[in-house]
This record gives sequence, structure tokens and C-alpha cells, in this order.
Amino acid sequence: MAEPKLAWIEEELAALRESGLFINLRTIDSPPGAWMMVDGKRVLNLCTNNYLGLAADPRLKEAAKQAVDAYGVGPTAVRSIAGTLALHAELEREVAEFKGVEDALYVQAGFVANQAAIVPLVGREDVIFSDRLNHASIIDGARLSRAKIVVYEHADPADLAAKVTENLPQYRRGLVVTDGVFSMDGDIAPLDEIYAVAERYGLMTMVDDAHGEGVVGRGGRGIVDHFGLHGKFDVEIGTFSKAFGVVGGIVAGKKVIVDYLRQKARPFLFSSAVTAADSAACLAAVRVLAESTDLVDRLWQNTRMFKSAMHALGFDIGNSVTPITPVMLGDVKLAKAFSQRLFEEGVFAMALGFPTVPVGLARIRVMISAALTQEDLDFGLRAFEKVGKELGAIP
Ligand SMILES: *Cc1c(COP(=O)(O)O)cnc(C)c1O
Repeated sequence: MAEPKLAWIEEELAALRESGLFINLRTIDSPPGAWMMVDGKRVLNLCTNNYLGLAADPRLKEAAKQAVDAYGVGPTAVRSIAGTLALHAELEREVAEFKGVEDALYVQAGFVANQAAIVPLVGREDVIFSDRLNHASIIDGARLSRAKIVVYEHADPADLAAKVTENLPQYRRGLVVTDGVFSMDGDIAPLDEIYAVAERYGLMTMVDDAHGEGVVGRGGRGIVDHFGLHGKFDVEIGTFSKAFGVVGGIVAGKKVIVDYLRQKARPFLFSSAVTAADSAACLAAVRVLAESTDLVDRLWQNTRMFKSAMHALGFDIGNSVTPITPVMLGDVKLAKAFSQRLFEEGVFAMALGFPTVPVGLARIRVMISAALTQEDLDFGLRAFEKVGKELGAIP
């Protein structure tokens, strides 16, 4: 038993276990890819964000190894003092070119990229309009800024316009922020209509493209490219940890803003730079994507094949228009049991429950990857069919 002042924590943990919401960590002991060693068992991987299979790509690994030999392992300083490598500058230039923006800032993660961007742009006298289903890192960045946060209904430009009309007059400046691709449902924000509202009211605009880069748009150029809105969004947040297969965050967009963030963003000023190895691997990933659309094309082929087969089996796979495939089960205990049975059948696909998704909307989230072959997809589908029938999720 914990000491009395900490007993409440044991109660909280017990409540999590009781309600089926306790998170059990699975450990991986193999390279990322279609098949992985998970908790000592070789399973088909349907749940990482390695959309393009780049996380173990020989080109990226080689770039990282060479960078270790050339530059060592540690960043040794924050970017603003002595931590900015030539590699960082090169990566920022090339990723900006790839995305078709004026400039970009490379930070440690997508999570802190939202803090890096939001906090300097708005303060106590300002208002943020935020989609109801925005990612936790947007919410935290918004809270840290101390601006008023007004939540609008999910992907609803009419509600956004109504909330703007009602609230903006009381504040100095406004910022609208939305995920591009919503990571739990795989739907996308109506970015063109959101932009139209922002334009009408003079709002600053920001989109988090974490699940869009490398996936949507021409050759994976992201959500802004998907809508043909180049030069319209002020800030695009991104991550190198998903389709790009490495780690790190990106704040891309208008030069005046990126210049300002280099002076003001606290993760940039107060937390050490990303390592040379990671930076070099990110640069290699951007080059792979800039050169060829093969991986992105394969990702979409796999996505279409898997989704139509799941639909034919009778699963409710939500409203996704991206490779994110939620298999809606509702009850969190059912979702956990489903995931456990899949694992026994050799398929790794995690159940997601509250607080990652709303209560009562628990699901298995399947993440399709270009690394999967037709045989892999067939293997996964057979397991879903077997477990789905066994647990009564499909007829
Ligand atoms: C995953 C994700 C992040 C965080 O990115 P990391 O690089 O993993 O920190 C931020 N925003 C959204 C929308 C995400 O899906």
C-alpha cells in the first residue's frame, strides 16, 4: 500500500483497471514493419503510424549512420544558442520546398510544435477557435497561450462562423486551428470552407497536418496541397514521426511567422535541438517523397483494398477518407477483448478507448501501411473475420 497521502492514486489506478481503461504497454523487439516481435510474439502490425514503411528504410538508416559518424550523437545545445546544425537548416529548406511553403522550423516533436506555434501568436487578449476533436497537443498549446478558447463543432464551418461572430468582437485577435486529418476517425477538416470563414473575419489560420503529410495531397504533400490552398494557411504543423518514419516536429508556413517563432518559441529556445542522426534521416525521408510517389500510391492501393473488404465483411468502419481505419465497436471492454483475440490470432491492432476517443465510441484502429503486401492484408482480414464472428461484431 502507498503512504496515506498517495492512496488516492492507487484508487484512481484501480478504477482505471475496473473500467477497462487501464493502458497495458506492449513492447516491441524488432524493426518497425509489416511483421514485428511484440511481447515476444511475431505478429502482423496493423497499428503503427509508419504509413510508408520508411521507419526501417535502408536509405534513412544509412543517412542516420553517416550523420552519427560525421556529427556525433548529442545536440549539445538548444537551437538558439549553439544547437543549430547545417543539417537542420537544410532540412527546413527542403521540407518547406516539398510542402510549398515559404519557410519551416524544425522542433523536437509534433507535440511541442503546437506549443511552439500557438503560444507566441496569441495571448490573454486573444481568442482561439478550435475544432471539438482537435489533437491533445493543440489543446495543450492553446491552454498554455492563455487565450480564450472557443470550441466549435467538429468539421463545422457554419458553427465556426457563428462562434466567430459571437466572440471575436470581445478580443484583440483571433486564430482558427484544426487538425487536417483527424487521427482517431480518419476524416478530414473542410479546410477550404474554414479558410473562407477565416478570410471573411481576418482570423489567423493554422492546420495540424500530422496525419496528412506523406499521405494526402499530391505525392503526400499534405492537407493544404489536397485542397489546393497553397499560401492561404498561415501555419502548418507537422511531424516527422508518422509517414516520414523518424521523429521531430515542423512548423511550416509564412516566413514572417517562422522568423518570429525563431525569436519566441519556447521549445526552440529552451529545449535542446534534435540529434544529427534524426535530422539526417528526416532529410532522407523528404528526399524519398520528393523523388517518387510510389510509396504513397501503394499506401492508397492497400487502403482501398482493406476498406472495401472490411466493409464487405460487415464491419462499421466509420467515416474515414484516409488510411486510418477505425473499426467501431462501441464498448471499451469489447474493443479490448477484440484486440486481445486478434493478437492471439497473430494480428497487432490496438483498442482505443476514453480519453483517446469519447466514451462509448471505443474501437480498434487499423493503420494501413505501404509496407503491407496483399498476403499480409489477407492474413489480417481473415483474423478480423474470425474474431468478428466469434465476438458477435459481424453476422
Ligand atoms: C501525432 C500527432 C501529434 C504529435 O506528433 P509527435 O511528433 O508524435 O509528437 C500532433 N498533432 C497531431 C494531430 C497528431 O496526430
